[in-house]
Amino acid sequence: MRAAPEFDAVVVGAGSVGNPTAYFLEREGLRTLVLDELSASGQGQNKAAIGGVRATHSDPAKITLCRQSLEIFSQWKETTGTDIGWKMGGYCFPAFTEKVETTLRGLLAIQKKFRLAIDWMDAEELQRVVPGLNGDGLRGGTFSPEDGQVSPLLAAESFTNEAVRLGAVYRYREPVTSLLMQGSEVVGVRTDKGEYRATTVVNASGVNASAICRMAGLDIPILPDSHEGGISAPVEPFLGPLIVDLRPGPEGKTINFYFGQDANGQIIFCYTPIAPISGTNRNSTYEFMPIVAARLVEVVPRLKNLTVRRVWRGLYPMTPDGSPIVGRAPNVEGFVLGIGMCGQGFMLGPGVGKNLAALVAHGQPTIDPDVFGLLSPGRNLQRGRTEALK
Ligand SMILES: Cc1cc2nc3c(=O)[nH]c(=O)nc-3n(C[C@H](O)[C@H](O)[C@H](O)COP(=O)(O)OP(=O)(O)OC[C@H]3O[C@@H](n4cnc5c(N)ncnc54)[C@H](O)[C@@H]3O)c2cc1C
Repeated sequence: MRAAPEFDAVVVGAGSVGNPTAYFLEREGLRTLVLDELSASGQGQNKAAIGGVRATHSDPAKITLCRQSLEIFSQWKETTGTDIGWKMGGYCFPAFTEKVETTLRGLLAIQKKFRLAIDWMDAEELQRVVPGLNGDGLRGGTFSPEDGQVSPLLAAESFTNEAVRLGAVYRYREPVTSLLMQGSEVVGVRTDKGEYRATTVVNASGVNASAICRMAGLDIPILPDSHEGGISAPVEPFLGPLIVDLRPGPEGKTINFYFGQDANGQIIFCYTPIAPISGTNRNSTYEFMPIVAARLVEVVPRLKNLTVRRVWRGLYPMTPDGSPIVGRAPNVEGFVLGIGMCGQGFMLGPGVGKNLAALVAHGQPTIDPDVFGLLSPGRNLQRGRTEALK
């Protein structure tokens, strides 16, 4: 007879997904160990996020999971007494070109079908929502008032503290080096300091997820793709929503640009490079700040005197089809995946964590299993790759 494992669940990674997963596992009454190779919680890609949280996607699984995340984030202070910088300022997608307007109106039809709080506004209305928004060529845009922002650092700390308060054990500077296997079943993990047996191992290791999957014989491609971000010194609060400008930049380097003002008054910003920058280099580039400055001042000219405090470069854990991989690993018992979050892992984290914990505890997610199944690790990722390239 096999000895009872020390833990019900081991979570690999104390990040955007791992921390909420540990919290919800403990809430299910499961003894949980979290291991991270770094020296504290949230020090992987979690702290690179600018903290945008929205349910206004077009994919049903992302919509449903992010709705749960919004519920969890927005009620966090009430639930735990801790302020994580939640700000319900909404998201605004202004349209300055006909092409962007057509895209946004197309998305709106799907979003309305899911009863998301989002509407089209004409230029004048939009300028009331975003004081100082450049009116040149502005055709209107969408506004979703129930989306918002959270501080990724405060959230990581608070999810960790709450998980620990419920009984979770966190061990830092302890990389998982292999999985303990019994046939095709994962029965625990090995680190550089020892072995831990568990009924379930959750892979929430972000950009390292492929390596952890390989330890169980699974070939799941998660590739790092780098993105830069930055934050200003605080200014008087005036900007409610996060703004996403879907125009490619005139400099020929950016596909889009997004920014907002956080709960402390700091302006936080990012863009998506036209050509993905693969790899793990996290050095800031010389071109990021000049490009951002031009785009920022073009959208909201009054930001021209902003003092920039800090820039950074982080990594998206990308999947071939651009969708996360969430659920039980195919053909491997005792192994659950919350990986491949791409550019939305912070906003997906609490929803994903809640559903993974329910899956481990009760064999079912909390949301409709068919919707959850859209992110299944067993889906044909290669077909997704072909479609994503079209
Ligand atoms: C500039 C920028 C802006 C972004 N803005 C947003 C945003 O506004 N909203 C949003 O939702 N997302 C945003 N993102 C994306 C978001 O940061 C990621 O999708 C998310 O953090 C991924 O979460 P994760 O839990 O998978 O990975 P992580 O948060 O990186 O957690 C994985 C953890 O696993 C640990 N680990 C890895 N390997 C091992 C091992 N072998 N043993 C032990 N531990 C291990 C790592 O140390 C890490 O702590 C942004 C990203 C960037 C770069």
